[in-house]
Amino acid sequence: MNDNVPTASPRKPDLILLRDPAESAPPLVDSFQRRITYLRLSVTDRCDLRCSYCMPERMTFLPKKEVLSLEELYDLATGFIARGVTKIRITGGEPLVRRDIIDLFTALGRRLGHDLAELTLTTNGTQLATHAEALARAGVKRVNVSLDTLDRAKFAELTRRDSLPQVLEGIATAKAAGLKVKLNAVALKGVNEHELPDLIAWGHAQGHDVTLIEVMPLGDVEEERLDQYLPLDDVRARLEQRWTLRESNHRTGGPSRYVDIAETGGRLGFITPHTNNFCAGCNRLRVTATGQLYPCLGGGERVDLRAALRSDAPEANLAAALDEALRIKPEKHHFRMDARGAAPAVPRHMSMTGG
Ligand code: SAM
Ligand code: SF4
Repeated sequence: MNDNVPTASPRKPDLILLRDPAESAPPLVDSFQRRITYLRLSVTDRCDLRCSYCMPERMTFLPKKEVLSLEELYDLATGFIARGVTKIRITGGEPLVRRDIIDLFTALGRRLGHDLAELTLTTNGTQLATHAEALARAGVKRVNVSLDTLDRAKFAELTRRDSLPQVLEGIATAKAAGLKVKLNAVALKGVNEHELPDLIAWGHAQGHDVTLIEVMPLGDVEEERLDQYLPLDDVRARLEQRWTLRESNHRTGGPSRYVDIAETGGRLGFITPHTNNFCAGCNRLRVTATGQLYPCLGGGERVDLRAALRSDAPEANLAAALDEALRIKPEKHHFRMDARGAAPAVPRHMSMTGG
């Protein structure tokens, strides 16, 4: 046991306790020699929005009993930290709709500066006004907020909920609480395509970095994926007609590649799974709210960490499960965006795997 590492967790006394990081635990290195230091941990598959590129209106959510408790999520995170994960992003579904989620942030936040370098989250922002200050108190420094449009009617159509005012209030509260906000927008053909420059300009004027994302064929939604897909090469070319884009060396440990925009003074990221595959530098693993580890967002490979966690020998079985995940982590995703009516690359929605 490392005496320097705080052990407080949101646990009930009867739950198992994984040992704190053992000095000797081997780092997570996959069969392509990629070192894994980044965990994306989904805490719920539920959401208060229904973004049309993410899930259908009538989404079926998992029974709550299948979802890991906050104590189990903490234990899992501990298992990853023991193997050299230094950055954890809490995601979902919408992480801030999970009851008592701040307890998990608070418990993990106690490890910051010890064996955890960064704790962050991706959120749709609807609950940020309520939670931003608590997140900042827990040690969160940066938050990604998904925002695809500033047009209230379009937002309501796209997310099937009229929540833009709440989201904007959440972003403002996060900024006031000292959180560095990055805005993420999925580029959608014919939907926010022509609004992207205004969205970027607005974000930069507020002091927020902005990242554009190519839509990925994850799960069945009610629309044809190919109709949603807007290649970011095209978007970038159009932005270059308006602004001066300079390559940036800025990295956040994710797949985003950045440029600085001279005229706005802000930074713009591009996440381009299709036009520029980023898998070679993949440093992450993803775990669903039910403890299923998906080594690749775009692959079907899976390892059941919940079974390991709930077994008689959780530490040993979790270690073995992580080794298996490293063994089967594919070299790259096999998304395709060239066929109309094609089945999704994987049947899971992004809200399940955790974006
Ligand atoms: N609910 C939170 C949010 O929206 O930020 C966190 C989870 S959401 C699944 C994470 C990110 O995935 C969001 O930025 C969302 O826009 C993005 N996303 C969802 N479905 C996607 C898809 N099919 N292709 C690309 N990005 C997607
Ligand atoms: Fe919810 Fe995020 Fe999916 Fe939108 S993208 S439906 S906010 S999980």
